[in-house]
Amino acid sequence: QLPLAVLLSLLMGYIVWLATANRMSLNWQISYGITANEFMVYCQPLINAKSGECDGIELLLRWHNPRQGWIAPDVFIPLAERQNLIAPLTRFVIAKVVDELPNLPHCSSFHIAINVAASHFHDRVIVEDLQRIWWPANPLPKLVVELTERDALPVIDQAVVAQLHEIGVRLAIDDFGTGHSSLAYLKDLKPDVLKIDKIFTAAIGTDAINATVTDMVISLAQRLNIALVAEGVETAEQAHYLRERGVDHLQGYFYARPMPIEDFPAWLEQHQAQ
Ligand code: C2E
Ligand code: CA
Ligand code: CA
Ligand code: CA
Repeated sequence: QLPLAVLLSLLMGYIVWLATANRMSLNWQISYGITANEFMVYCQPLINAKSGECDGIELLLRWHNPRQGWIAPDVFIPLAERQNLIAPLTRFVIAKVVDELPNLPHCSSFHIAINVAASHFHDRVIVEDLQRIWWPANPLPKLVVELTERDALPVIDQAVVAQLHEIGVRLAIDDFGTGHSSLAYLKDLKPDVLKIDKIFTAAIGTDAINATVTDMVISLAQRLNIALVAEGVETAEQAHYLRERGVDHLQGYFYARPMPIEDFPAWLEQHQAQ
């Protein structure tokens, strides 16, 4: 009869082995998926809180592969970040939206937001990529780069941020108030936009402490003259609360779920007709 300790360690070993095997195969599959065109660009409308009109979109990656089906960004993005595959994925997103530009609104108020991992800021790579892929397109809507960060507080070269500003790109801090996205960013990066994370939006009317944080983030941004986007808006009550407090843009299922970027022009037409 095997002692329990041996059985347990065998079981643990098996779990670790399974997890590693799974991770390795997913890593390999991300590179393969890029070449095999398995990734898709979705977009979610950004609603101008004052006018109620959609005047921007955020681009969100989707991955559907014939082997495992849909894989959530919260699963493959962290993996891609660790495997240096995030820059190729972001280039794919930029190239795709450049292809779609003829079908998107051309008014000066329309803007496009892309998610960019902190590691992509390293060595000006993001600036070079934008100059190469985004800049030649014509006409160009306004571009917002949403800095996303989940692992550690990175040191972001302020010169890179300055260069982004020079080429007309605005910087947003994503998921503000969660994880590592902190006050230090405000001081160092002087962002143009803060995105209020959906946990703070969800707190409105339900969770007094987090709702207080929401209020503080709003007044902080307003004092520093930083534009605000609230994400995860799911109810009329949340929309009303955020609008009353002067949040500039609202985003969430209450207005629209993310959709394939090809479907956006039809959605916009319908939204404007309402
Ligand atoms: P994020 O940038 O904070 O994006 C917002 C997430 O909230 C999206 O999840 C969106 O589908 C979801 N969402 C939108 N409205 C609502 C709502 O009303 N309620 C709730 N509960 N959720 C809502 P998604 O698309 O699964 O993406 C998850 C995360 O993956 C993103 O969070 C972003 O950090 C990352 N990601 C997605 N696409 C890219 C990309 O192209 N590049 C990078 N670096 N990261 C990406
Ligand atoms: Ca984002
Ligand atoms: Ca976010
Ligand atoms: Ca998020």
